[in-house]
Amino acid sequence: MGITVAIIGAGPAGFYTVEALLERCQTVTIDIIERLPTPYGLVRAGVAPDHQSTKQVVRKFEQTALANLVHFYGNVEVGRDITIDDLLAQYDALVVAAGAPNDRMLGVPGEQLEGVYGASAFVGWYNGHPDFRDLNPRLSPSTVVIGNGNVALDIARILVKTPDEMAASDIPGYALDAIAAAGIETVHVLGRRGPANTKFAPAEMREIARLTDCTPLVDPADMPEDAADDDKVLKLFRSFSAVAPCGAHKRLQFQFFAAPEAIIGHAHVEALRYRRNRVEAGRLVATDAVCDIACGTVITAIGYRASPLPGVPFNADAGRVENINGRVDSRLFAVGWAKRGPTGVIGSNKPDGEHCAEQILAELGSDAAATARPGRAGLERLLAERQIRYVTFDDWRLLNEQEVTRADAPAPRRKFTSFAEMMAVLGAARRQRLG
Ligand code: NAP
Repeated sequence: MGITVAIIGAGPAGFYTVEALLERCQTVTIDIIERLPTPYGLVRAGVAPDHQSTKQVVRKFEQTALANLVHFYGNVEVGRDITIDDLLAQYDALVVAAGAPNDRMLGVPGEQLEGVYGASAFVGWYNGHPDFRDLNPRLSPSTVVIGNGNVALDIARILVKTPDEMAASDIPGYALDAIAAAGIETVHVLGRRGPANTKFAPAEMREIARLTDCTPLVDPADMPEDAADDDKVLKLFRSFSAVAPCGAHKRLQFQFFAAPEAIIGHAHVEALRYRRNRVEAGRLVATDAVCDIACGTVITAIGYRASPLPGVPFNADAGRVENINGRVDSRLFAVGWAKRGPTGVIGSNKPDGEHCAEQILAELGSDAAATARPGRAGLERLLAERQIRYVTFDDWRLLNEQEVTRADAPAPRRKFTSFAEMMAVLGAARRQRLG
């Protein structure tokens, strides 16, 4: 028997680490422990529901999960069902790949008002994440999305797309209906810097240019005069600054040099107050100009933070696991957003996973003789003692099959969105099997 490794979190960082371990060691046994009954982390619950091609990466992850030496334990929460110490006692190495599921706070007055949502909750809601399916956001004709990263752009796009444009997505029906019923007229996307300093990807910006019932708008006064002609994002902004709103029912208004200062309202959000900025030598300089945007909904998309796990050192300032280049402590590692914070795309986790695998094998040795730690048998014994009903990868495949089967074409799947629903489906299948 070779070394045993447990990975906490079944998202891209976890799967790339498993893949890298398997490539480097023939005898490593790997168990993936996941809080949700479903695998794939942000690929399932973060990548926008209309970006189905991005989600195809799960085909590779599925092959990895089906490897002989790999098992999936879904519906097991570390910190509640099992502790870090429990896991370190069972496994030779432990990898925290639990991502960064919490929103960074804006830190302005009014952030607690009804109608203010963080991207994690809002994206989770329209992606059918069990934690957020009941968010029931207060949507309104005028909505402000704060942030100039790709998450902000995803949110804005989902809000202004028509039901037809979403037909081939896997957005849950409740979210599609709520967005359609909100009568959205204007989505303001607020950036504290200018059009030359956004983090928008060109491909995502091109989608904005192709929206069927929404006019993207930029104030021409915000456009830099000396912009390079080959900057794809700036070129699009320039084209948006040259159009007048006409025809389309919705507007996507890019509001630049706007630093949020307060969210105003009594029972709920009524306006977003921002201060105009200037950018001087890359630094933000506040001006005296203050403006209000009347709105009923504010969504912040300004970055994420990891969740502290009891027993794992946490850097509260950075919002991630305390680590030195992925190493946390003896036999304890971190990878992906839990390690480096919320940066990069899905593929950025591949080199991270490779590095993590190499660190583990360097510390333990790939051909380590059988250790005294029981690995999988120990985990299963603890879960049985604690009566934790875990979800296997075969269980997930059954859920997956049912999600696909019950979808109305061209939607690729109709997601199960609650723990209870998923466990009931699995319970029924088990009873049927037992006759
Ligand atoms: P991000 O790219 O880091 O963008 C965060 C944005 O929030 C920045 O514009 C930042 O402005 C702004 N911000 C931060 N604090 C703020 C404040 N107090 N007030 C106003 N604005 C503030 O983060 P993200 O959009 O959450 O994306 C996370 C990662 O996932 C990124 O690497 C992203 O590319 C990736 N992602 C990729 C895709 C895709 O490829 N389709 C989709 C979604 C996410 P400053 O620049 O001024 O700090």
